[in-house]
Amino acid sequence: MATVYLGIGSNIGDKEVNCREAVRRLGETKNITILESSTFYITKPVGGPRQEDYLNGVVKVGTRLAPEDCLDAVKKVEEEMGRVPAGKDHPRIIDVDILLYDDVVLKQKRLTIPHPRMHEREFALKGLVEVAPRATHPIIGKTMEELYKSCVCGKNKKSMKIIKNIREMEQYSREAKAGTKTIGFVPTMGYLHDGHVSLVKAARAECDVVVLSVYVNPTQFGRNEDLSRYPRDMKGDERLSEENGVDVMFVPTDDAMYPDGYNTFVEVDGPLANVLCGASRPGHFRGVATVVAKLFNIIDPDISYFGQKDAQQAAVVKRMVKDLDMGTEIRVMPTIREEDGLAMSSRNSYLSPSERRRAASIFRAFKKAEELIKGGKHDVFCLKEEIEKVLIGQGYLNIDYIELVDAESLQPLDVVRGEVKIMVAVYLDKIRLIDNVAVTVKNVSQ
Ligand code: AMP
Repeated sequence: MATVYLGIGSNIGDKEVNCREAVRRLGETKNITILESSTFYITKPVGGPRQEDYLNGVVKVGTRLAPEDCLDAVKKVEEEMGRVPAGKDHPRIIDVDILLYDDVVLKQKRLTIPHPRMHEREFALKGLVEVAPRATHPIIGKTMEELYKSCVCGKNKKSMKIIKNIREMEQYSREAKAGTKTIGFVPTMGYLHDGHVSLVKAARAECDVVVLSVYVNPTQFGRNEDLSRYPRDMKGDERLSEENGVDVMFVPTDDAMYPDGYNTFVEVDGPLANVLCGASRPGHFRGVATVVAKLFNIIDPDISYFGQKDAQQAAVVKRMVKDLDMGTEIRVMPTIREEDGLAMSSRNSYLSPSERRRAASIFRAFKKAEELIKGGKHDVFCLKEEIEKVLIGQGYLNIDYIELVDAESLQPLDVVRGEVKIMVAVYLDKIRLIDNVAVTVKNVSQ
């Protein structure tokens, strides 16, 4: 009979009931006997999107099943309990992992034993220490107790710096540059998601030092907009930043950024800033350009990373950098989307479940427009009508604008040709969402 340690976790619904039910079902599985169970702990999620805490524990079982059959048995329990396929590290009603199977070492497409990340995961090791303190990891050669200690110590060695003071940030950048390090910069308003993370990863791949700023900039919000309600979660942002290799999180205060007597703004007048969001949100891009210019002055980045999701913002910033001879390169990275196509955005967290479902119509409208353009429909008036039909669907969604614009100048077109962007801003209740896609139109024929 083999001794197997199973990690059990849940972060959807009643987590305790789910974990208990999984243990019960495993115990009723033929050829599996539950021998011992650890305490179940509340643990922080590791990786994946923003999600609820987990309840995690470890059970020791005796089994006559071979490793592959044991995997089938645990998968069956997961399926029967309603687990649905989702992305890596996404929330789940129940998760059962084979952590150790005697001292077997196995590397197959479906199954790796010992579990490939168990030795670095505190939530797995904490339970293992209770039920198998002296069991040895067959590859690393250390006991569960030893692995747990080094995991916890390693975690406490915080490598990410959090800087709140502007002068300290300037000093940090000066020193990094004196050491000929390149600085990659990701400006954000926080409440980080995978869209922001993609910018961090791009910066990490190209630069020696990655600085991410979290600052909800008051000067880019209009009087009736959602400044005071903008979602914030400093702890979650710290976790995601640290996990994804940010070196410095820069979190200045309003008083430091706009002290009494503050009087200087970057005015971005002209066709690029006066259309689309610039027309709907007067003063918005003045606030964006001002804060981004200030951040560039403080951080002095070699390369700065922006998202295509906010295409007009990226275009305005590029223009400013060129006009004011600023010494940073601008990279504009692709939009990261949810499974149903909705562009990730901190503001999505405001949406009720039914608004969230309706918000997916934005992406459906883009797909419809792309299909029509491919089919030869190039008249913008007709295309806008079709987009509007999909967007509005059964109602409840207000359109701020739908525009088909030249991808470079962002000026509205009458007929689509060349590199085009379809730009949309909608309101679901008071929540304003923006999104865009690029389309290339080769031949114009009506
Ligand atoms: P925000 O915190 O919303 O101001 O966004 C900070 C940066 O992240 C901006 O450059 C955005 O364009 C970018 N960003 C936001 N959402 C996404 C997304 N879904 N995919 C890629 N980049 C994004």
